[in-house]
Amino acid sequence: MTVPAARAEPYDVVVIGAGLSGMYQLHRLRGLGLRARVFEAGNDVGGTWYWNRYPGARFDSESWTYGYSFSGEILRAWQWSEHFAAQPETLRYCNFVADTLDLRRDIEFDSRVRAAAYDDAATGWDVEIEGGRRARARFLITAIGPLSAPTMPAIPGVESFAGEAYHTGTWPHRPVTFADKRVAVIGTGATAVQAITEIAKTVGHLTVFQRTPNWCAPLHNSVIDAATQARIQATYPQIFETCRSSFGCFIHQADPRNARDVSPEEREAFYEQRYAEPGFGIWMGNFRDVLIDREANATITDFMRRKIRERVKDPALAEKLIPTNHGFGTRRVPLESGYYEVFNQPNVRLVDLRETPIRRITPAGIETSETEHAFDMIIYATGFDAVTGAFDRIDLRGGEGRRLRDTWAEGPRTYLGLHVAGFPNLFTLVGPHNAATFCNIPRCIEQNVDWVTALLRHMGDRGYTRVEATAEAEREWTAHVHDTGRRMLFTQVDSWMMGINSNVPGKQTRTFLVYAGGAPKYRERCDAVAAAGYVGLTFR
Ligand SMILES: Cc1cc2nc3c(=O)[nH]c(=O)nc-3n(C[C@H](O)[C@H](O)[C@H](O)COP(=O)(O)OP(=O)(O)OC[C@H]3O[C@@H](n4cnc5c(N)ncnc54)[C@H](O)[C@@H]3O)c2cc1C
Repeated sequence: MTVPAARAEPYDVVVIGAGLSGMYQLHRLRGLGLRARVFEAGNDVGGTWYWNRYPGARFDSESWTYGYSFSGEILRAWQWSEHFAAQPETLRYCNFVADTLDLRRDIEFDSRVRAAAYDDAATGWDVEIEGGRRARARFLITAIGPLSAPTMPAIPGVESFAGEAYHTGTWPHRPVTFADKRVAVIGTGATAVQAITEIAKTVGHLTVFQRTPNWCAPLHNSVIDAATQARIQATYPQIFETCRSSFGCFIHQADPRNARDVSPEEREAFYEQRYAEPGFGIWMGNFRDVLIDREANATITDFMRRKIRERVKDPALAEKLIPTNHGFGTRRVPLESGYYEVFNQPNVRLVDLRETPIRRITPAGIETSETEHAFDMIIYATGFDAVTGAFDRIDLRGGEGRRLRDTWAEGPRTYLGLHVAGFPNLFTLVGPHNAATFCNIPRCIEQNVDWVTALLRHMGDRGYTRVEATAEAEREWTAHVHDTGRRMLFTQVDSWMMGINSNVPGKQTRTFLVYAGGAPKYRERCDAVAAAGYVGLTFR
């Protein structure tokens, strides 16, 4: 039953989502003395780390750079056990933060927001939760995640499969076993690479269905020993300062040299060194031109190609695992812990969907153009409708009933990735065109939340109740996002960062979802806007 709007619960702010963004935003809203309510579709906090419980799920960010930086108490009380923590530990961390800050009393779980409409007469948002409950609030903050709308492959017959079937992004909360089972994994993105490597350790027989191979690099995870733990605790300010000054807020800084400025021997030695180091160094800490210049990119791509050939024993199989449609680093780089060696196991097979595409899922398994493969379990590691997907799944209407989905039909248009003209009093944390989409995300989440919090304080101090981006500011920022992106090689390749998802109707045309100018530039711009009295925003 739908509750009439007039009887809906009134709040100052409704936040959608209780991942890292929603949790921190709630804490800061309380600090402003505002009455805030968070609605979360899952039945606990953690967002990404609540949903993605698949085997092998873990950080690509160094754990000690990922946690919140805003609270000395939390930093001192929490110790990460590994340099790249696994999902259960990160979920425990989210719960620890929720307990420490006593967040749950203002969060309603199992509450998926179905619709939200701006009511100009009331200067506020009318929010509808699935099941018919309603809430009203002056401000609406979306904290719905860049990778939170799982997509299934557009293959007929998915419902007909008689065995176990799971999507990695909605993995069950009970243990799933693979021993003695014939398991299929569809997908070879970052999630699939983690899951395949872990499942291969115990599986009866594993078949990997690959459409597009990715350039994967070694994670080199390890336990944090006591001395390192003490050093991390003692140097948090420096760690966060390094992150702040780097392009994507990772601990890795780009090398100031160009790949073409050094001799081939020096270049090779540098690539070997990066390949042997933990984390995203090979991607984020590479020569400054490898993600911009085609020739420079070709040198690292060639290096990575040779690495795959070294690690996969069967030369024909190695060729299938080598990407041919994009250079290294121009799509999200999966980090791996023995992925290529999995394909040397006798009980693992690769099906190349470029040669034998899937026709349908059958009750017994997967039918390709060649044969029907029988399985006990199918795992869909087919990812997410990235960045705009979670917005599209809400019937979000601004002034005059205009739908956000329609407004963004030709690609998102935003101001600073946080505001949309025609949608007053809406703030989109980690939204499209926001530096947070190309970031060690919590570092950018803290910036986003602090900026929105300061804006709300600014409004409160002056008695304003309504804020909206001007169409001109939106046009200018959107053009800036496009201009900045054009120089990066990744914008010339189909990927989720460019809004491509072959499984989602209408998402086959490249558009700029992420801000490629880097977090420091983005922060500078946001700070300048605020310092100039929030230019580009109108208040009432
Ligand atoms: C497997 C995986 C690994 C990752 N690893 C890293 C990493 O190593 N480093 C990194 O920086 N980033 C990583 N990310 C990105 C990760 O999403 C962010 O780091 C971060 O968790 C985003 O936090 P968030 O709160 O913005 O979004 P999320 O954590 O996605 O939380 C959004 C929440 O909103 C809820 N929600 C969405 N729509 C609705 C609705 N309509 N109604 C109610 N609730 C709703 C969802 O249920 C979810 O709980 C990873 C992502 C995935 C999927």
